[in-house]
Amino acid sequence: MQANHTLLAALALTTLAGTVQAADEVVVYSSRIDELIKPVFDQYTRETGVKVKFITDKEAPLLARLKAEGANTPADLLITVDAGNLWQAEQEGVLKPLTSKVIEANIPSQYRSSTGAWTGLSLRARTIVYSTERVKPEELSSYEALADKNWEGRLCLRSSKKVYNQSLTATLIETHGAEKAEQVVKGWVANLATDPFADDTALIQAIDAGQCDVGIVNSYYYGRLQKQQPDLKAKLFWANQADRGVHVNLAGAGVTQHAPNAEAAQKLLEWMTTAPAQAVFAGVNQEFPANAQVKPSAEVLAWGTFKADTLPVEVAGKRQAEAIRLMDRAGWN
Ligand code: FE
Repeated sequence: MQANHTLLAALALTTLAGTVQAADEVVVYSSRIDELIKPVFDQYTRETGVKVKFITDKEAPLLARLKAEGANTPADLLITVDAGNLWQAEQEGVLKPLTSKVIEANIPSQYRSSTGAWTGLSLRARTIVYSTERVKPEELSSYEALADKNWEGRLCLRSSKKVYNQSLTATLIETHGAEKAEQVVKGWVANLATDPFADDTALIQAIDAGQCDVGIVNSYYYGRLQKQQPDLKAKLFWANQADRGVHVNLAGAGVTQHAPNAEAAQKLLEWMTTAPAQAVFAGVNQEFPANAQVKPSAEVLAWGTFKADTLPVEVAGKRQAEAIRLMDRAGWN
């Protein structure tokens, strides 16, 4: 699987490297899949005449490629998911910090890097999902409360290897300090109904099937499954509404450090924060536009509104290593 990815990326790149890049062309490396980015780029090309070439791969091989290519990279823009990954890319020095009045006006600062190296484009809530058959929403309140005794043998979690859970844990550390955060995570592990899942969809299906009663997932996975299975016996619950709010993470992008076409890349990135692009970029994946002036799709609006945690999401990156060690100590596989 991994080998195939790398091979495909290598083939795609050979093609890119073989062409002389025109000024009216931007090259994008994306860990977001084709069907989620192509509609946005097609629209940009229609509006501006600027062509967008892209390759897609998993975030780790894309980052490795950018580092290996260094100053010779054909890539102008990197698109990836989770502030933890964008922060990592920034630390590796593959992104170019920039100042943009357009991006600053369109995207709230909590969803951008403080250095200007990347910006969020769409948002997803990582929140509680529960069985509509075995749980009343009144029984739920916060991430922390899922560590209580009454959820023993009822909780499902995804693997701690996934950056989404590392980012959530990082925000727990930032909010409570390491000691309390570890207590919470240990409580979760003690309450597990079964081994952690490889993905969020399998987790929601396990709740639907009666294997567990509550879990924590990204909102769009719920949206996708609900579309396929309208009778799904699971619902989203907005966590921590009485205190700091739901953990919201993002998909985002940054101009690369050695972009052959940095100016054109910045223009594309700026355009991606504007209303027409935002509706498409978020809409195709049932996410929330990062530009607060733009409404989510009707399907997403139907889940109801919520209060989001105001913590800058780059905290997810800053405390990532600490979060991984904590999850390991707590026995979260
Ligand atoms: Fe995802």
